[in-house]
Amino acid sequence: AIVYLNGEFIPADKAKVSVYDRGYLLGDGVYEVIPVYAGNAFLLDRHLQRLQNSLDGVRIENPFSDAQWTDIINDLIARNNAGDQSLYLQVTRGVAPRDHIFPIGVAPSVFMMSNPLHPVAESWKTDGIKAITTADIRWMRCDIKATTLLANSLMKQLAQDAGAQEALLLRDNYLTEGSASNAYVVIDGVIFTAPKDEKVLPGITRDLIIELAAQNDMPLHERAVSESAMRNANEIWISSSTKEVVPVTLLDGEIVGTGKPGQVWQQMNVLFQRYKQEVS
Ligand code: PMP
Repeated sequence: AIVYLNGEFIPADKAKVSVYDRGYLLGDGVYEVIPVYAGNAFLLDRHLQRLQNSLDGVRIENPFSDAQWTDIINDLIARNNAGDQSLYLQVTRGVAPRDHIFPIGVAPSVFMMSNPLHPVAESWKTDGIKAITTADIRWMRCDIKATTLLANSLMKQLAQDAGAQEALLLRDNYLTEGSASNAYVVIDGVIFTAPKDEKVLPGITRDLIIELAAQNDMPLHERAVSESAMRNANEIWISSSTKEVVPVTLLDGEIVGTGKPGQVWQQMNVLFQRYKQEVS
């Protein structure tokens, strides 16, 4: 694969970064994951806006304009033979002697790679996935898409250890999101998802789901759901850019709703797939 590193397009095995990079030493960086369908970066403008918000949140200056980002991203996609890809980009604060204090006059490091997109297994949509619940052990700026993913990794590994595909996170008895996804609960035909604040990542897929619901008269409230309400819900879903919308049918070993992907999920999945076809 060809990757982009600080101005160059080079083979992945030739790409090297300094051990003094603050991404490596401090996890001092932000990132995006952008799905690419048939060579087109899906909802790219929204990802670039969120990147800007993340950079602002950690006070790293954006090294590029949106037009420059778009050119580099499209170039990288083409160099990796277009098709369906998962494009990863990260910006770290750059290379400097190790210190918590920000270095002065240091250029951010920019890295991008684009790998073949592996859609979720068909069974995830026909049968749904298993999830566990766990305490949300993250910091209070989950709205920043930071490369510092140790808490997310620990929580996702708990799911893996339990034979589940995602961990749903509880903070103060309320569902925030998944370890790598936003979360939705359907109660009596009404969809709930936690509001945008410092406790959740503002998912691009989440925004699209909210818009599709509004356009199609599907009731949806941006309101946090309690643990007990979640456990009695008719449906639970997760969403992310690379997984799209996926139903959860087993939670902590208990059947969710009927134990099958729910009707509201079916409807949203159809709308989502249709939207994807239209724009790509
Ligand atoms: N929340 C978290 C913690 C995530 O890691 C992700 C995906 N990276 C999401 C939500 C979903 O965001 P998006 O739809 O933009 O992929």
